[in-house]
Amino acid sequence: MAKKKNNLYIIVVGCGRLGSKIAGNLSNLGHSVVVVDKHETSFEHLTQEFTGFSIVGNATEIESLKKAKIDKADMVLAFTNNDNINYMVSQVAKEVYNIPHVVARIYNPDNVPLFKQINVKVIIPMLLAENFFQRTFEDIIGE
Ligand code: AMP
Repeated sequence: MAKKKNNLYIIVVGCGRLGSKIAGNLSNLGHSVVVVDKHETSFEHLTQEFTGFSIVGNATEIESLKKAKIDKADMVLAFTNNDNINYMVSQVAKEVYNIPHVVARIYNPDNVPLFKQINVKVIIPMLLAENFFQRTFEDIIGE
């Protein structure tokens, strides 16, 4: 079995409420993390756990991803608040740079097949909330 690489180089695109939290957690686990966001103010979300680098840049511009050294990444997280941008980032990561692990947050569940087609894992807050509500509802009514 192939030996697992302990320290991963991970790029988090979109450093808002989700990206900043995950970036902190990953830093805490000892991974090398770079965050990219088009708004410098977004980096204010980062906590003390974050020990990586931050890059101000629009993810739609390939230069921003190059600055983040996307060619060296083990993992790319497309966590902006826009499905189209997350798709574009995922596509570049998967198809241009052959990044082994790409995860995207997507808002519209209808977009899931598009991401699956290019072998990107997805996080769908809407479906997570729906499932969570279903379980909570069942707990409340005792079924
Ligand atoms: P949130 O929804 O709080 O997790 O935040 C989403 C983050 O994505 C915000 O900080 C936005 O500034 C960031 N974002 C949105 N579009 C882009 C883009 N084109 N390039 C880089 N960051 C973006």
